[in-house]
Amino acid sequence: MSQKVIDLLNAARARELTAITQYMSQHYELEDRDFGKLASQMKEIAIQEMKHAEDLAERILYLRGEPTTKPDAGIKKGQEIGEMLSTDIALEQQAVNIYNEAAGVCAEEKDQISKRIFEKLLGEEEEHLNIFENLKDHVEKLGTAYLATLTGE
Ligand code: FE
Ligand code: FE
Repeated sequence: MSQKVIDLLNAARARELTAITQYMSQHYELEDRDFGKLASQMKEIAIQEMKHAEDLAERILYLRGEPTTKPDAGIKKGQEIGEMLSTDIALEQQAVNIYNEAAGVCAEEKDQISKRIFEKLLGEEEEHLNIFENLKDHVEKLGTAYLATLTGE
């Protein structure tokens, strides 16, 4: 068993824990500001990140490592919606880069299962990136008219 792979899985888990904390914080802030629709979308993505953190923990435990409980970065609070989306785009872009790199290392270490986990996560982070980029694009191009569609239940 490769310590290198365990460390990569834990680095990814720490990244997921940051994303979960950031998106849940945004979820509460958006609910509070009555952007219910966007708030629900944030929660949905946060739950997907929780599943990622869980998938990584299961693999780490199987490899006899210890799943980290610490996020790898602090979170931002009190941002405007455009800024929030920029924060999220950066998080997803970093995750895509980290997981791409990690999948390559897993192949070198001949750990196909861990490689597959990173590839699965990679696909889902690209979807998140796409969602956040589209939202940001709409906010920039359509402004308050679009923001109005993100309110309510
Ligand atoms: Fe994730
Ligand atoms: Fe993500």
